[in-house]
Order: sequence, then structure tokens, then C-alpha cells
Amino acid sequence: MADNKRLKVLQKFSGRFKDKKWSQFPKGYKIGKTKYIFVTGGVISGVGKGITSGSLAQLLQNKGFRCNPIKLESYYNVDSGTLNPFEHGEVFVLDDGLETDMDLGSYESLLNKNLSKNNFFTNGMIEKQLHKLERKGMFEGKTVQFFPHKVGAVTRKIRESAMATNADITLIEIGGKVGDEESRIYFKAMQTFVYEEGKENVSYIHNVYVDKPAHLNEQKTWPAQQSIDEFSSLIGSKPDLVVVRSEHELESGVREKIGARGLIGAEKVVSLPNLKSIYLVPKRLKDQNVDKMIIKYFNIRPKNNKKLENAWKKYVTKFSNPKNKITIGITGKYIGSRDTYASIIKAIEHAGTLYDTEVDIKFINTELIERRKDKVKEELEGISGIIVPGGFGVRGTEGKIECIRYARENNLPYFGLCYGFQMAALEIGRNICKLKNANTEENFDKLKHPVICLLPDQLEKEGLGGNMRLGGQDIKLKPDTKAWELYGKKPLARERFRHRYEFNPEYRKIFEKNGVVFSGMTPSEDIMQILELPEHPFFVGVQFHPEFSSKPLQPNPLYMEFIKASLEYKK
Ligand code: GLN
Repeated sequence: MADNKRLKVLQKFSGRFKDKKWSQFPKGYKIGKTKYIFVTGGVISGVGKGITSGSLAQLLQNKGFRCNPIKLESYYNVDSGTLNPFEHGEVFVLDDGLETDMDLGSYESLLNKNLSKNNFFTNGMIEKQLHKLERKGMFEGKTVQFFPHKVGAVTRKIRESAMATNADITLIEIGGKVGDEESRIYFKAMQTFVYEEGKENVSYIHNVYVDKPAHLNEQKTWPAQQSIDEFSSLIGSKPDLVVVRSEHELESGVREKIGARGLIGAEKVVSLPNLKSIYLVPKRLKDQNVDKMIIKYFNIRPKNNKKLENAWKKYVTKFSNPKNKITIGITGKYIGSRDTYASIIKAIEHAGTLYDTEVDIKFINTELIERRKDKVKEELEGISGIIVPGGFGVRGTEGKIECIRYARENNLPYFGLCYGFQMAALEIGRNICKLKNANTEENFDKLKHPVICLLPDQLEKEGLGGNMRLGGQDIKLKPDTKAWELYGKKPLARERFRHRYEFNPEYRKIFEKNGVVFSGMTPSEDIMQILELPEHPFFVGVQFHPEFSSKPLQPNPLYMEFIKASLEYKK
């Protein structure tokens, strides 16, 4: 086979490591088996590359291809765990425990499947591995360099991922913008990759932004053209498709102008205006034949997966034709909140769509409530359910506890997620079990009632990063409880965790005596994972993050019931 001959030549001459055990071609790799699509962006960050990549992957999955999305991050953090969610958006947690960027959440939901360590890499992660190999003497006296070693490490990761997932198509989203100094490594890797795999096996999709400044009232294309130029001069070839993100539809002539000035032709320009939900994006791309163009480009044979395609069609139709409307309150700081709580907002959408309900989100200012407890009723006015999401630190906690008290006393549906579970335990501890000043060891030392305390195995942990209780864990469900029923009356459920503190087992008896039901525990029953109040229409706290497992085609059962209860509350 020509491809394999090619591989042999490449292995001999292009940046192969001295040690045969570690070349950029993993053992058994075959060129041409997997096709690759690089998804890049320019003009601004946050142009929606991840959504393009995930949506295209969905369309190709509907055509019977096994799709494998990868995100390459340019930062030096080893994973996303130490990033501030108010600046960078939520930290998404995979079932295998890796803390990632929120794009992985979009991929999982757009593809209706779980991803793993094969789908997310950072500059920091790659350097860490190179350092480890260097210290082990794997490079046998050679200078370890940007090229070929670091570039080779990136291309190897991509190939390993494609092999591990047995992918027909691997889509690689490069974080940052074209021309970013920080992303240089990935653009170099992309070039190398094309050289090594052959252009027929690799396609480029570049995402740009077209703005319409208010004082001009006209869509301006110059930055988009510049970005296409920058891509071309860096890579040495034009993108195969350009996705144009804009606030509104592209105006007449704009597509043609970008096609002509970018020297790619209008047929390669795809318009993607802002839409109400990311799940509407695949159809937009399909309407412009993006899937067909890719299939034609790679010359691969599609097999229709009608069942999956119809399930998505049904979701989109239901989402677009809601019959009810409710407002859910989320306690959190307003600034940056939509990205900070991306998975929660999406999980609410999945469940809302199931019940033909459009859900508005209202962010509740807990710092205000903390100062003025009498304001709680006013702040919660008009909402039909309240969520206290995951969080860290003391800020706003007293306000959160006040909101929970209000929800409990007024039969307002309450859903506590991780920190929200812990805050609910404090509220119940103080106001029902009469444990004066019950609090969490996370925020205070020497507590009389440390209802929330450090997980025992956290005592030995040093420093930050990747060392909380992380990832998918089994939850033993207690029969005849709400959680047990919602998870289909099965003995076990599985959800994803990210925490350092837990409900203090010493208080379990007092709580149970006061009517709290711990309906989910670790299989050995040492960590409480779900609490519920059976007398309340919906008062549930969970130590995990059910939003991470929710998908449009498989909404999370707890979110479903929370939305249902909120609809009933509104009535
Ligand atoms: N800060 C809490 C803990 O570490 C809750 C974490 C979270 O909400 N993700 O246990």
C-alpha cells in the first residue's frame, strides 16, 4: 500500500525519536484509516469553534461514521482544574476524572456519548510528559526541541487518540486564535500532520467573526478576510471551509465578498448566526451541505443512521415549539455566569425540552441577601424552582442558606448541586436539627458543629490540581426513595464528582431522626451522596454534578423531576 510505504519513509526521516519506543507514529498506526478535520478560529476568541466541531461531528455520526473530537488547549495548566470558572467558563469533569474545558461538555452532548482522556490535551500536559521522558533518558543524549520533539508529541497524541477510539473521523479543535503565539505549536503540528498524512486525509475548517458596528449598521468583512489570509500564510494553503459567525444572518453579498476576497469562493463560506441553542447548529450546517462537502472531500461512504437523525430532529422540533414557560433561579454572580454554569443551563434545557418548556434563568444575588435577609422573598419573586450550584469559599454562603430556607419553608422546588448539597445540609442542620452555627470546615476552623468536613483521604493531598474526589463514581440508591425511583429503581446510579468536603457521617443519625433521607451513598455507605426531604415536593441535594451526565437525548432524571416539580409549582 502506498500509504504504508509513505509511513516507512516518514519514520526514517521526519523527526523520529532516537528511541524506537517513542516516535510520533504509535505502533501499528496506519495512514489513511482515520480522516482528520482541524477546526481553527480567528478574529476573536470565543468564535464558537467547539460548537462547529461538535455539530459537524454530530452530522457525520448521523451518517454512520465513528467520530472522535479532540480539544487542544494552548495554556500551560496541566488541566482545567485550577482555572477560575468566572474567567474561563465552567470546569467540565469527564467520567474518568479529567478536569477539562467546557467544550468537552458540548462535544459529549452533541455526540450523545461520554469522552475520556483521549479527547483533551493542554500545552502544560504535553510539556509535563516531555519532561518526564527526558528525565528517564528516553531521548538518548539528543537536544529536546520544539521541532521535532514537541511537535511530534502533539501529532502522536492525536494519532493515539484516533487509534484508541477506533475513529473514522477525528476532529481537532485548536484553542486560541490563528496567529496566537501560544497556539503556534498546534499550527506547526497541523502542518506537520498534513505533510505526514497527506492532504487527502486532512481537512481544515476555519472559523471567523463578522461584526456589525452600530455606527455603521453594516457587516464588515475585513477582519474575516485578514484572518483567512493569516491562516493561509501560516499553513501554506487555504482553509477548505470558512464558518462565519455573526450576530445576525449574513447580509446579501457578504458571503460572496468573503469568498472572493478570501480567495476561496462563496460556496466554501458557511453562515452561522447566533442561535437560541447550540443544538440548532447541526441543522444550520446541514442546510448548507457541510456534511456532504466533507464526505465528498474525503471520498468516504456514508451509512445513514436514521434512528439517531430522527431523535435529533424530534429534539429540535420540541425545543423550537415550547408550550410552557418557567423561570429557574440560580444563585451566582451575574458576571460571566452563562459560561460559568454552562452545563447546568444545558441540563435545564434538556429537561425543559422534554416537558415542552422554555426555561428562563435568573441569577440570584446572594451577597445582597446576605446583607438584607428580608430581601429573599423579593429576590426569588417569579421563580418556580431554585438551584444552588457547585462552588468554593465563603462568599455568598449565608445568602445561599437563606434562599434554601425560603425554598424549604415555601414548598419551592430546591435542587442543590455539590456545594448546594452541602449548603442544604447546613440549613437543615441549623434550622431543623438545631445545631447552632453549623458550618463547613472549608470556610471555618474549630467549629462546634462541622456538619461538612474534609474527606478523610484529602488530608494527605498536597497542592492543587487533579486531587479532589473526581470523576464518575457509583451511588448506592436506597429503595423507595425519590432518587431510587427517578434512576429507574436500580440499585446503583453513576454520576460525576468534584469535591474535597463531605457530609460529616457523625451527624447522619441526627439528620435522619429529623426526617432527612440519605437516598444515595457510596456502595460502602461511608459517604452521603444524595439527601432528600420526603415531605417536600422537591427538595434534593446531591454531592455530585448531575449536569455533567445530562445529554439532550438522555436528560438527567433528577433535572427532569426538578423541572416537572417547578412546572407544578408555577400552576
Ligand atoms: N467546595 C466544595 C467541596 O470542595 C464543593 C465543591 C463543588 O461544589 N464542586 O467539597
